[in-house]
Amino acid sequence: MTESVVQSPQLLPWHAPAVEQLRAAWQAQRLSHAILIGGPEGLGKGRFASWLARAVLCERRELLEGCGECASCLLYAAGSHPDLLWIAPEEDKQQISIDQIRACSERLAKTSYRQGSYKVAIVEPAHQMTPSAANSLLKTLEEPGAESLIILVTSRPSALLATVRSRCQKVAIHRPNAGSATQWLTEQTGKPVLPQMLEFAGGAPLRALMYAERFAELDGQMRDSLSNLLTGQVDVTQVAGDWADESLSERLNWLDLWLMSLARGALAGTDDLITFPERGAYLPSLSRALNITGVYSMVDRARALKAQLLRTALQRELAVESWLIALMQVLDAAEPKHRANA
Ligand SMILES: [Zn+2]
Repeated sequence: MTESVVQSPQLLPWHAPAVEQLRAAWQAQRLSHAILIGGPEGLGKGRFASWLARAVLCERRELLEGCGECASCLLYAAGSHPDLLWIAPEEDKQQISIDQIRACSERLAKTSYRQGSYKVAIVEPAHQMTPSAANSLLKTLEEPGAESLIILVTSRPSALLATVRSRCQKVAIHRPNAGSATQWLTEQTGKPVLPQMLEFAGGAPLRALMYAERFAELDGQMRDSLSNLLTGQVDVTQVAGDWADESLSERLNWLDLWLMSLARGALAGTDDLITFPERGAYLPSLSRALNITGVYSMVDRARALKAQLLRTALQRELAVESWLIALMQVLDAAEPKHRANA
């Protein structure tokens, strides 16, 4: 088969309601030949699809489970299951082509390698099919082969053809509540994760985990960068150039937390409270005369910048440069007193 990217079939705690829904359908022999898995990014929809594929292909068919031990499950684990097809945009391509869908449909029309077994195709991200690919898939959905299952995975179900959607059994993956997401994150990292990570990730735990990992990496860099800037060793243009790559939105998250922590410390009137994640006080001498309104306005501007998603590196650089100039002005307001104290 063409694609053999094996994803972990491990379920995540917030998948439980969707699992129940599908097990009930399986036991009642009402599992559709096409399933549309929808939900926001960062919830492990691909993993859920992998779990479903493995469970459907498993030789122990009473439960929708995936035993992990039968010949089929072993083939799955080896990434070489002959009755499982992964369809994703080909390398360097943005979209899933009609040729890919045609090849998939041809395969699904043939008999399975293991007699009486399912043939499964996972299409992810389904909204990235070209219109002709989607129309071609529609024909297969209208006349499904025996014992075949098509799993469409998407964060944008509304971007699919209505006619495609209507032929699928819908399974929604929902965000867990903040409490259980935080608990899961703590279990994964072995230490408390800042609640803001979950906020930045729009409540999606897998994305929050990625942010938390990236955040730890960025932390040192951002401190050095700001120290060098504030002590005049580098200028705003250099810093803007360093920050304006694809990591910009994560850097803006970092700055958001840093500024909020500065403002909190200044409001409390104590340097001690400017403890920024795990690393103790940072720039405490700025705090006493800090222009708090100015700091909040910098937070707003950082959030606006993140929401804008500027396309070109040059646009991003210019926007960051003007943000940094404003930041310097806000922090400069604190400097006379800072100098007087020193
Ligand atoms: Zn099995």
